[in-house]
Amino acid sequence: MSINHHPSDALLLDYASGALGETWGLGIATHLALCPECRRTVALMEDIGGGLLDALPPAPVSEGSFDALLARLDDVAPEPAAGTPATAPASAGAPVLPLPLRDYVGSDIDGIRWRQLGMGARQFILPMAQKGVTARLLWIPAGKPVLEHAHGGQELTLVLRGSFSDETGHYARGDLQEADESLSHQPHAAPGEDCICLAITDAPLRFKSLAARMVQPLLRI
Ligand SMILES: [Zn+2]
Repeated sequence: MSINHHPSDALLLDYASGALGETWGLGIATHLALCPECRRTVALMEDIGGGLLDALPPAPVSEGSFDALLARLDDVAPEPAAGTPATAPASAGAPVLPLPLRDYVGSDIDGIRWRQLGMGARQFILPMAQKGVTARLLWIPAGKPVLEHAHGGQELTLVLRGSFSDETGHYARGDLQEADESLSHQPHAAPGEDCICLAITDAPLRFKSLAARMVQPLLRI
């Protein structure tokens, strides 16, 4: 498995420092379960964060300290150990749902209480305690598009099975897309395999189609 789209350093740093909260954090934790590269980055951030806390007297955070920390991370990022593959081997037989997700929905994809979204698409909204942020599993049939939409806030989309493409690129298992108000897109699931994603949003999507906007409150999307 080769992952091409990773969370931004800012998101990983928020995750490492515990600032993300449960729902966004689930998206990053699930990506980490699939991505050795980001696991190493987060481990470094945690080490450096712990080291800084130990070594430094309390001081106000100065402007530019975030960039300085990222520069330091670039300096110390280790090479993979000899014999260690840069990415995880192809995950034949691996469960579709990585462990952080299984804690919320179990491991049986077909046992999930999917709700129809129309045109063969389905969703399942995860039971999360955090208010204001929604995590859902989306099931998009192979070869089919999602209705064109923009975003009222932030959206993280992590591919778990199959793949999709939009104006920004191609996303397969483990790839994570960060979207905000500036992105309007129409993702298409690739032919051959249904696409299952974890999508996390903090505001309703903005559909172009009037029909979609009318049923939107019923679907909670
Ligand atoms: Zn990654």
